[in-house]
Amino acid sequence: RVRGMEMASKDCVKVAVRVRPFNKRERDAGSRCIISMTSNNISIQDPRNPQNSRTFTFDFTYWSLSGFSRNKDGLFASVFLDLGQGIHDNALQGYNATLLAYGQTGSGKSYSMVGYGANKGLIPTLCERLFQSIKSMQDSRQCQVFFSMLEIYNEQVVDLLSKTSRSAGGLRVREDQQRGFYVEGLRRVPCDSAAQVEQLMEQGTRTRTTVATHMNANSSRSHMLIVIQLKQIFSKECITKQSNIYLVDLAGSERQRSSGSEADRLKEGTAINLSLTTLGNVISALADMALGKKVVHIPYRDSVLTKLLQSALGGNSRTVMIATLSAADICYEESLSTLRYAERWV
Ligand code: ADP
Repeated sequence: RVRGMEMASKDCVKVAVRVRPFNKRERDAGSRCIISMTSNNISIQDPRNPQNSRTFTFDFTYWSLSGFSRNKDGLFASVFLDLGQGIHDNALQGYNATLLAYGQTGSGKSYSMVGYGANKGLIPTLCERLFQSIKSMQDSRQCQVFFSMLEIYNEQVVDLLSKTSRSAGGLRVREDQQRGFYVEGLRRVPCDSAAQVEQLMEQGTRTRTTVATHMNANSSRSHMLIVIQLKQIFSKECITKQSNIYLVDLAGSERQRSSGSEADRLKEGTAINLSLTTLGNVISALADMALGKKVVHIPYRDSVLTKLLQSALGGNSRTVMIATLSAADICYEESLSTLRYAERWV
């Protein structure tokens, strides 16, 4: 079992870093660029002490300009081909996958995952490819796709596709022998086109904003999770394969500040960091296993997020993490901490 995991983790976890262009605030502040890249290495310089720089190595590194990304050689890189295609292929083979975006608020998580306008992000592109593949299938298998979208806020689950789920305490996370952890009563919408998925994503995003306003909260403090279930029925062979793709826009990684009371802030801060910290611990444990170290316990049960992702982290699952950051000197602390977090996944 450990051997299987060893193979899987090494091949199946990919970490990418994407650096976005300066925004207006950074330009107005006369910011300096403190990031440099050579090959798959990315270096960050301490603006107060330029001698002091740290270098990290990842699977992919991108300089991202509006609408496209340049890789280390200055060539246009397809972020989708690097990161999304493998998830698509894996899902069609019947395996689960997780794609996560991690980084400071405003660093490009939504840009990378969802995209803006003509710059389609990884999720819509993945859905387009998936439906294309389903339509052009040559064999007799039947495919069904289901879409769910939820938010984890303060360790509580809110269904973003349902108006009725905003009950106190959120939806329950339950455990089942066969299904593992699941959200009780979560809406699953059958879909047959990428356009339909995009519509649902818009609906979910609107609900997310409403919920945040309602709870007097900021949606950058919640984790957004989309689940795409692909069911493939091979009637001749009497086989059904089911794969879940989890797409996660994580809460902003910056230290959480809150306008609420001290008690609210503490509760919120611990809960948000609980999911992020636990995710980091799960990944470190899987990475240790991959290195052949003895791992007694993988702490999936310690947070709602890792419970829900349990079946899609480790094993035969493919995991892709995209860490996003700004190259500006004023973001040094946050960018360094993003790189440090991402390093644990390599
Ligand atoms: P986050 O989801 O991390 O809070 P966003 O994805 O909303 O951040 O990005 C903040 C702003 O920066 C947006 O206006 C977005 O268009 C811009 N941006 C982010 N990443 C890129 C990128 N790679 N290339 C061009 N613009 C980007």
